[in-house]
This record gives sequence, structure tokens and C-alpha cells, in this order.
Amino acid sequence: MKQFVAITGRLKWLGLLGLLGYLTPYAHLKLLSLFWLLCLVEIVCDWSALGQALRQLMGIPITYLSYKGKLPSKTNYQLKNSYILPFKGQWTVVNGSTEKELSHSWEIPSQRYAYDFLILDEAGKSYEEDQLSPHSYYCYGRDIIAPCDGMIIDMKDGYEDSLVDGKGSADCRAKDIRGNYILIQHPNREYSLIAHIRKNSFTVKAGDEVKQGQVLAQSGNTGNTSEPHIHFQLQAGKSFYLAAGLPVGFTHIGFQKKNSYSLFDSRPTQIGVDSVENRTYIGRGWEVENLC
Ligand SMILES: [Zn+2]
Repeated sequence: MKQFVAITGRLKWLGLLGLLGYLTPYAHLKLLSLFWLLCLVEIVCDWSALGQALRQLMGIPITYLSYKGKLPSKTNYQLKNSYILPFKGQWTVVNGSTEKELSHSWEIPSQRYAYDFLILDEAGKSYEEDQLSPHSYYCYGRDIIAPCDGMIIDMKDGYEDSLVDGKGSADCRAKDIRGNYILIQHPNREYSLIAHIRKNSFTVKAGDEVKQGQVLAQSGNTGNTSEPHIHFQLQAGKSFYLAAGLPVGFTHIGFQKKNSYSLFDSRPTQIGVDSVENRTYIGRGWEVENLC
């Protein structure tokens, strides 16, 4: 099926030849424009991805409107609970910050303060040996833990790992960009979403109450991801598309600038971390760990 879509995807460009029908006396060449109809194959075969993209797009203005243009920020939102990092050991922030320039996705309200974490070595590499196998990545299959007490209110399992091409692009095998994920409801209308989880690795189920630090599943490479990592975001509601993202400062964590980061990623890193009332606001280029 995938091959069929790839072939029709290429054939559609023959539709360009239809222009000759308008530019030359050979009007019957206009019929070649019909090749553009092959676009429909791509659209229909990727319907779920399209639907998800549309929901995400439509969610942006709706969320802005529901907050009257004033989305939660570090200055206007007081966190209601204490959060630890959703993993054990030392991981590095590759995407995310409360600063707009370093944000995971500033323009998408629910992901404005999201974080992507992975494990880097001292050479700035996130894997050893086979770069194309998810299993080669240091962070693959590591325990994911609950960042705060709460109840599992939604989860998805069953998607296979996406293919890693080693060039930073994703071959998503899931119909959901989150891949396998878990949504935890904490007290006071705060919700944690953790995504890209390894298939069949869950140790909890929907409806379970969990305690901070409890193992939930293992990190994987499902969904829209170019290599294994943990995606974590705190939301003000249940919906992935309509909830506003919340700026999360973590408690009881250690942090240090990852010296080898520039070997991994040439983008700018966060200059310093900001600690306010025992909450630490981390950002790209910092190695972080729970201290308790
Ligand atoms: Zn992410």
C-alpha cells in the first residue's frame, strides 16, 4: 500500500504537462491535468494524519479565544502541584523552554511549554552502534515515571516504533503523532501528557491511581519522532488540541550545562536555568536529573 501511495505521489506531477494544453495549440493535452486527481490517493490514505493536523490547527485560535489571548505564562500562572522529571537518571533537554525562542512549539498553545528529553554521551551522541535501530539509543526502553500523583485518564498502546533514518526526519508508523501515550490527571486541573512510549511497555492502565515516581511505562520511538525520546507536557485540560500548555518548573532536580550538546545540535541553548521558589525552569542544552 505504501508503495502504491508513493507511486501515485510521483505520477501526480504528470499533471504539470496539462499546462501544455493551455500554452500550445494541442488542447487535448489539458487532459493530462487529470493526473492531479492522484493527490486524492495521498489525502485519503493519510486521512488520520490530515485530520490530526486540522484539529491541531483549529485548536490554536479556539484556545487563544478561550483564554482571551492571555495564555498561561511563568508570570501569570502559579503551579498547583509539585512535579519531578518523568524519568530516572540524567537526561538532556533537546526541545523546550519557557523562553519563546527555545520553546518546543510556541505557536501551538498545548505544546508551548512541552519538553523533549533524551540521553547524550560525552561525545554528543545519543546512540551507539547502529544509528538506524531505535534499540541503539541510550534512552530507549528506559523507565518513565509519574511526575506527580494522579489518575490515568487516557492512554494509547499498540503503535510500533517509527523508523529512524538518521537524518532527523520521521517515518511515522502511528496514526497519532503522539504514538503511544499516557495522560495523567493531577489535582487542581493540571494534566501530564507523556508521548512516544514503547509498545507493550505499560505497567498501568486507564483508571489507575499513580504516585509520584511510580513506573508507568518505557520510553520508545512511536509517533512523530526522528529518534527515541520522551515528550512531556503539562496541560490545563484533557484535550491535546484545546488545552493550554502550562509552564512547569520541576522540584528537587539537579542540572548542569551539557558540555557536548553543541556536537549534537547547533541550535542555541538556554543560557541559564531559572529557579523560583524551589521550582527550576529548565531548557535546551541542560542535563537534568531528579535528586530524590
Ligand atoms: Zn516533543
